Amino acid sequence: MSYYKEAAERIKSIDPNLYVGILKKRYEEVRSRGEYEADSILIAEYYRRVGVFLQFLSIEATSIYVGMDMLIGYKMDENEWDNFPVKFPNFKEIDIMLMKLFSIHYLRWCSLLDSGNLIALQFPDIYEPMIKLFERGGGQISTHHHELVGGFGAFSRSIDSRRGDKKPFDISDYALKLIINEVEHTEAYLAEHKRGSQTEYTCIRCSSRLLIQSNITEYGYQWYKIKCESDDCFNKNFS
Ligand SMILES: [Zn+2]
Repeated sequence: MSYYKEAAERIKSIDPNLYVGILKKRYEEVRSRGEYEADSILIAEYYRRVGVFLQFLSIEATSIYVGMDMLIGYKMDENEWDNFPVKFPNFKEIDIMLMKLFSIHYLRWCSLLDSGNLIALQFPDIYEPMIKLFERGGGQISTHHHELVGGFGAFSRSIDSRRGDKKPFDISDYALKLIINEVEHTEAYLAEHKRGSQTEYTCIRCSSRLLIQSNITEYGYQWYKIKCESDDCFNKNFS
C-alpha cells in the first residue's frame, strides 16, 4: 500500500463521534486527567521530531501552523482546504481547525514519501504522534495567544529546533496506557487520603512508596504533591 493510501485510510477512520459538540464542553468533561497526560506526551514527541527535522534543515524554529512539506519548499494547492472535507466526510462534523491542518499536511507528506522525496524519506514518521493523538480522541487543540492549548495544558506555538535534543518519548500504546493507569492509581490514593485513610500506595513503575505532601497556596488553595520515593520517578501535582 502507498503511504498516501494508508494515511487516507487513517484520516477517514477518525471517529467524528469523539469530537462532535466537544467545543462547548469543559476539558474535564471530555477526557480524564490521565488521558490528557498521555496526550501531552504525544504532543511533546511531535515537537521533538520536528526539532530533529529543523536541526537537519538548519532552521531555528517554526510554527505549529507550518506543514513539514512547506519547510522544504512545497505550497498547498489553492482549493485543498475546501476539498479536504469533501474527500474526508467525517471532517464535515469535526470542526477543529488544527486537526484539519495537521491532517492535510500529513497527507501531503505521505504523497512526498510516495514520490520518493529524499528528504521526506528520512523523516517518514514525523506526523505519527499527532495522528495517533487524533485517533485516540485527543485532538481538541487550539491556539490562544502564543500557545497551543488543550486539556493537557499548554505548549508554545512555535517549535524550537532545540526540542530535537530531547530523549525520544515512548508513544507506544503500552506506554500511554501506563501513564493513564498511573494517574488513575494516584487519584484513587489521594481520594482515600482525603477521606482520612492511612493506606499507603506504591508506585506502579517501581513499587517504591508513593508520598503525599499537602500544600496550601498563599490564597488558601489546597494542592498535593504526590511523589515516588525513588529519584526521577513519578512526581505530579494534584488538587
Ligand atoms: Zn516509582
